[in-house]
Amino acid sequence: MSQVEKLLKYQEADSRLIKVEQKLNSSDERKKYIQARSYLTKASEKLDQIEAKAQELRANIDRLNARYAELAETLKDFDHLDELAEESNALSFYKRSAQSLLEDFKALKNELNNLISNIKDQVEEYQNLKKNVIAAQKEYPKLQAAFKKYKDTVQVEAEAIAKDLKELAKDIDDDVLKKYQAKRSERVFPILCQLKGDVCPMCGTSLSIAEKENAASGKVIECENCHRFLYR
Ligand SMILES: [Zn+2]
Repeated sequence: MSQVEKLLKYQEADSRLIKVEQKLNSSDERKKYIQARSYLTKASEKLDQIEAKAQELRANIDRLNARYAELAETLKDFDHLDELAEESNALSFYKRSAQSLLEDFKALKNELNNLISNIKDQVEEYQNLKKNVIAAQKEYPKLQAAFKKYKDTVQVEAEAIAKDLKELAKDIDDDVLKKYQAKRSERVFPILCQLKGDVCPMCGTSLSIAEKENAASGKVIECENCHRFLYR
């Protein structure tokens, strides 16, 4: 058997291994497991965000309390209004002050309402997240076990093929196999292809004159574009 034939045989077994790997990667078991894992990671980040938001809301409560104390202090100016109101100038001054104080209280009330609504939203968001996280945490070990079980069965198939590959590799020159493995790790596949006329069957690049001569003499050449091994 020529090196090309041996390598083709090796490549055929290798293509079965790739199919097994792809089957595992595209399986529902893996998708569900990865999805659950990613959800739980994101939920933990979300929880940190909610905590930061709660601290911000807490600071807002303190700020509005201070503002309320400030306005209540100003209100004390009106305690002796009846004594002061005898002077008409003072009366109009206090009327204006009272008006401005009323506006300040209204603004405070609006801010307070906004804050309450924000707190309600946060509490709701937190409760929803908590509910979903608890459900996801309960489901996670089941998905993890299902994926492991599937992976183990696929592993058995993969190991059988790997054994074949090891056997087939014995007949192939070391440097050829090394080059093959290097391309395989770059996710080029198939690696060894039969020429279609004077053109690479995978990417359509034409051969140079020198390459044509080499291919005609039975040598394996390399496509200058996709770097696959080509033979006549
Ligand atoms: Zn090519």
